Amino acid sequence: MALLGKKFKLLEVFDQATNGQYQLLPSRFAALDDGRYLLSNEVGEYLVVTRPDLESFIRKQVPANTDFYHDLKSKHFLFDDDSNVALDLLALKYRTKAQRISQFTALHIFVISLRCDYTCQYCQVSRQTDDKHAFDMSEETANKALDLVFKSPSPAIKIEFQGGEPLLNFALIQYVVNEANRRNEKHQKDLQFVITTNLSLLNQEVLEFCQAHDIHLSTSLDGPENLHNTNRPRPGKNGYQLTVNGIKKAQSFLGHNKIGALMTTTEKSLPHVKSIIDTYLENNLDCIFLRPLSPYGFAIKNQQAHKYDVDRWFEFYKEGLDYVLEINRQGYQFVELYTQLIINKLLSPFSEGYVDLQSPTGAAISAIVYNYDGDVYASDEARMLAEMGNKKFRLGNVHTDDYEGIWLSDTLLDTLECSLSESIPMCNDCGFLPYCGTDPVYHYATQGDVVGHKALSGFCNKNMKIFKHIIHLLEDDPEARKILLTWVRT
Ligand code: SF4
Repeated sequence: MALLGKKFKLLEVFDQATNGQYQLLPSRFAALDDGRYLLSNEVGEYLVVTRPDLESFIRKQVPANTDFYHDLKSKHFLFDDDSNVALDLLALKYRTKAQRISQFTALHIFVISLRCDYTCQYCQVSRQTDDKHAFDMSEETANKALDLVFKSPSPAIKIEFQGGEPLLNFALIQYVVNEANRRNEKHQKDLQFVITTNLSLLNQEVLEFCQAHDIHLSTSLDGPENLHNTNRPRPGKNGYQLTVNGIKKAQSFLGHNKIGALMTTTEKSLPHVKSIIDTYLENNLDCIFLRPLSPYGFAIKNQQAHKYDVDRWFEFYKEGLDYVLEINRQGYQFVELYTQLIINKLLSPFSEGYVDLQSPTGAAISAIVYNYDGDVYASDEARMLAEMGNKKFRLGNVHTDDYEGIWLSDTLLDTLECSLSESIPMCNDCGFLPYCGTDPVYHYATQGDVVGHKALSGFCNKNMKIFKHIIHLLEDDPEARKILLTWVRT
């Protein structure tokens, strides 16, 4: 057979040339269940293999004329005499996955005010009551923070306003948006804004400002009225009503895709995952993030974070994901966001910017936090820890430190150095490493050590369970696989 004047070699030539001659490329494996293993490589490509197949691969005994050999070769688990560009291609894929590191900090979180009109039991920011103006960010602090924002080399910048309740200091949000836009005339970044708000103060003035400046809103919705109001108490007991009214107003005035919601799982949420998801559907939201409680702030002071363990939360997540898949089977596309994140890590060549699932950690190099008083923290969790009195991850202050002083501080560099999964005991030979992260703040908060002992780590336990479950769905449930593939971002 000839193609453009060249002849293919006979099949036997390939078989003879490579049989037993291949070289192994870096890979790791992890047990999935009694009979199967996940085999993954540095760029996150994977195969699910039996133990005999895994052994024959490692012993270099896979015959060259088998599908298994071709799978191993095409996914960069081995190379042979015919793999002219295999290493270059692998390096290119690795660079693509690691590209986010060169782009540096894209998300800049401004804690506009610690004041809040809610008194949530699990609040992770240890909010102040709503009359303490001492806990508002000033224009001077915001200007200093903006100086740092525009030093970031990232071509895309997202400024997110958080609290407390940031709309209690709406005048400062207006100031920052106008000032950032003014400065961006020179920098020409892809500039976006998000306000994370409980929506109780959403009025026409706020909506018009959001519309004029293309600002997205993010809110909290914990489920049906009873559950939401129990988890998120507000004087007047009308938190749920204010939230769903706000969601409707924002959807109709700004557009359906301009508002999203997040939920937090308390002990009381655990039996109600289906009705929580139904609440999202009733409010025309097309995704949900089934989030466990973080061990920071009021969640620790009120013992909320210790009321359920990872195993119980995982049952909640699994039941929720089953229900989400059922909804998709009925023809309505509805996404569970953490699952989508993992699916993308498994199946897409690009990296995800999720701070907790990166090596090194995304703290400060993907997202950074400017507190109301000008203190700069490596992540939102680091700021929550500081509100509990522990400032271990404070990187400096916008009034006293410059860009280099903050991003090259020993605190940050030490944290980054300790957060390379590739050098962490247990992670370094774990097959799930390409999809996982390290979360040094979580490990410091729970184990007093930034690296942490992974065999005792709730972070490791949770993620390992999720990885296995999602891979099982992809491998063993063709209908679920079909749906999950539609969640891959391109
Ligand atoms: S944290 Fe656990 S699941 Fe993640 S890479 Fe480390 S050992 Fe593997």
